[in-house]
Amino acid sequence: MSSKVYFIKASIGEGERAVSEKARTLFRAGGFRKCFKKNDFTAVKVHVGEETNNTYIKAPCLKGLVEELVALKTKPFITDTSTLYTGRRHNAIDHTVLATQRGFSVEGLGIPFIPPDGLFGTAEAAVPIEGELDKEVMIAADIVRCQSILSVAHFTGHCATCVGATIKTLGMGCSSRKGKMRQHAALKPHVKKGKCTRCGECRRHCPADAITLDDVQAHIDQDKCIGCAECVAVCRFDAVAYDWQQENEILQKSVAEHALGALRGKEGRAVFFNFVMSVTKDCDCFARANMPKMVEDIGILASTDPVAVDKAAIDLVESRGGRGVPKLIGNAKLDWHTQIEHAVRIGLGCADYELVEVE
Ligand code: SF4
Ligand code: SF4
Repeated sequence: MSSKVYFIKASIGEGERAVSEKARTLFRAGGFRKCFKKNDFTAVKVHVGEETNNTYIKAPCLKGLVEELVALKTKPFITDTSTLYTGRRHNAIDHTVLATQRGFSVEGLGIPFIPPDGLFGTAEAAVPIEGELDKEVMIAADIVRCQSILSVAHFTGHCATCVGATIKTLGMGCSSRKGKMRQHAALKPHVKKGKCTRCGECRRHCPADAITLDDVQAHIDQDKCIGCAECVAVCRFDAVAYDWQQENEILQKSVAEHALGALRGKEGRAVFFNFVMSVTKDCDCFARANMPKMVEDIGILASTDPVAVDKAAIDLVESRGGRGVPKLIGNAKLDWHTQIEHAVRIGLGCADYELVEVE
């Protein structure tokens, strides 16, 4: 069995309006209208980009998709959950202000930005799943309550899961704070000997008060640490590291299981877009401008299968880059196969696909 993945070539250089129209073309070509019904509360899951990040997918690129949902008389809302780490997306208020400033708003897209996990990321629902790691996952309350989802992922590399695309958008991006902590629980960093300058930046950003400084270097209390990766993101001296080989596998599996929970009850009522453009080596959670890219822009992919759409995007990126994603992002210890294979095993979707190119 294979799933259809629709693909259209596109590049940010064509302009946001052209990208928006190409996404609309793909929506129509894929026959995705059938997934959305009149009066549905439809979550349009996006990533508005951390502050100072400028390589995220901009709001005007989604205009055509939003207009399609409005024409179908659904009640779409732009949405994303609060992050574990500090920053402009850490709670619903800061996140909404940032989203509004970036045009993910009634003014910019004609529909509101509404975080699905409440003011503090704690509005959640326990969703039963048939996972290997978990039999229940904690998902943002309004993701669970809405009737349909249009997921718009930006395909990037990722410092923990190798690839950040649809599965990551659903698993991490649709879970509550507790759900995120469970996914990160196995991934705890340590400070490398001889690298730390004692600048204290990691301690200032740690949300769990897990970092102390002595006369030599910073130390991470593994019992207090919630694995949020904030210290990895803020350390400018490459002094904080993960034990990737051991723990990365559990994180990737847990992300796939939370994605399964986010989609529970929405069979046939969810569509997944991967924008494979501005394909940066790190994800949009990094508050950095002009991050290096893996490959030049490829296009937009869409499917009703969240696994197939990710596998197709990975294949296109690796084919274009002439190497595997781990080498393209410069971290050979990472491996995206775990999340794809686990996602297939737990029934999230299918890794075999038929690529249908749309003009
Ligand atoms: S941010 Fe890096 S260099 Fe600074 S104290 Fe923390 S580990 Fe050390
Ligand atoms: S020490 Fe743990 S909790 Fe603190 S910032 Fe680093 S990963 Fe997050």
